[in-house]
Amino acid sequence: MEQSPLYIRVHPRDNVAIVVNDGGLPEGATFADGLTLRERVPQGHKVALADLAEGDEVIRYNVVIGYALKNLPKGSWINEHVIRMPSPPGLEGLPIATVKAPEMPPLEGFTFEGYRNADGTVGSRNILAITTTVQCVADVVQHAVTRIKAELLPRFPNVDDVVSLGHTYGCGVAIDAPDAMVPIRTVRNISLNPNFGGEVMMVSLGCEKLQPERLMPPGTIPIVTTAVDDVADIGDVGADANGDVVVLQDDAHVGFQSMIESIMKMAERHLERLNNRRRETCPASDLVIGVQCGGSDAFSGLTANPAVGFATDLLVRAGATVMFSEVTEVRDGVDQLTSRAANPEVAQAIIREMQWYDDYLKRGSADRSANTTPGNKKGGLSNIVEKAMGSIIKSGNSAISGVLSPGEKVRQKGLIYAATPASDFICGTLQVAAGINLHVFTTGRGTPYSLAEVPVIKVATRSDLARRWHDLMDINAGTIATGEASIEDVGWELFRLMLEVASGRKETCAEKLKLHNALVLFNPAPVT
Ligand code: CA
Repeated sequence: MEQSPLYIRVHPRDNVAIVVNDGGLPEGATFADGLTLRERVPQGHKVALADLAEGDEVIRYNVVIGYALKNLPKGSWINEHVIRMPSPPGLEGLPIATVKAPEMPPLEGFTFEGYRNADGTVGSRNILAITTTVQCVADVVQHAVTRIKAELLPRFPNVDDVVSLGHTYGCGVAIDAPDAMVPIRTVRNISLNPNFGGEVMMVSLGCEKLQPERLMPPGTIPIVTTAVDDVADIGDVGADANGDVVVLQDDAHVGFQSMIESIMKMAERHLERLNNRRRETCPASDLVIGVQCGGSDAFSGLTANPAVGFATDLLVRAGATVMFSEVTEVRDGVDQLTSRAANPEVAQAIIREMQWYDDYLKRGSADRSANTTPGNKKGGLSNIVEKAMGSIIKSGNSAISGVLSPGEKVRQKGLIYAATPASDFICGTLQVAAGINLHVFTTGRGTPYSLAEVPVIKVATRSDLARRWHDLMDINAGTIATGEASIEDVGWELFRLMLEVASGRKETCAEKLKLHNALVLFNPAPVT
């Protein structure tokens, strides 16, 4: 069906709007209000709603996203070549906890079926994870995982999967540098993700800088296991405060097969305990959701991200934990974050994380303009200011109740700002370390991104993407742009899907296809 020319303006003060039509619109196309295009405008790109003189503010989301570099008459195509980016907001004099979050009644009665852990956290999947201390052992562990899946896993029907927690860290790094704490605590906290049931087992080479006891200091791993009738095994784990470790350089190993057999034997003990886990009814407040966007376009901030924001508010009302991240994509809206902080301490923690990241970028002679990608621009996002305004919407309207530094584990409910890079796979990795049991990811350009450690629900910003990538996208938010559905409709659809996926009643598209990205650590410290 040929769609009549349609644009979306977000705020009455905006002097640009987004072209909705698939394939864009040609020169001369006329909208219902009489606005006529002076040139072709691609889908998702901006059109001037008023005559803009050189130097005039270009406003979207009621925010100045740039200044006109030349006279731009009404009906012109507004893109990154014709606007100049505003300077970044400073970190002084920001509004501190000035906005009172709207009154939102508690949302009660929603539950899911999850795996309750000894430490109170709840898993959405039942997975054996094998922690690695260093990249050197990665392929040995992968070899073992292939055999464990083929030879052992069929005997443990309640266990969903076996994954190797491979990474590129562990040696050849300045391990005593202050920032080394980021990758180290990330690997540690990933091993403790609720989906792994506290069953930590490690494979170490032997001579690496990141020794097992440094990765897992005594007391890190809960000794209590999920199976109460398993007293002998509890003793086993307790015998080694660092958990179970196979060290490849151990004198006992003669030949490769000996290493593989040791890993498999250890895996079998953990699989037995994991196999005793059972799903039980848990309140929605036990959900720990990480939200992220990637491959964004101009629709991200119109459709998918507002729907995620609505679902975020539902989750907060239900008493759950929701975290949003991506420092470089919120930096330009830092005033929105500090003003929404629940108290001054939270606002200061947000500023501390932004300052740390500003310094980190400065050390590498980069600034926030390093964020937008060619695809973002093709999708209509002119610069990071415009991208940031569309990204922050994922956080909904709730007060921000806590802040996490990269790699830290979440210990509270409500809306959390988890500071991470915006890089999809690094942000995802850090959110897994923070303890998410489900990940929600929005995309406009399209990405097959997923994780092996937690299910990833992907939300398409446009119907065209959802149609073409019908077996990769779990939800289509593009119906919001065309008026077929409201932000609330898609927000509720997402919330309900989260409960289904967390319960294991539904698999995500990426789970069905067994697609997942590698864990990628954030290592701001030097490599030696
Ligand atoms: Ca991202």
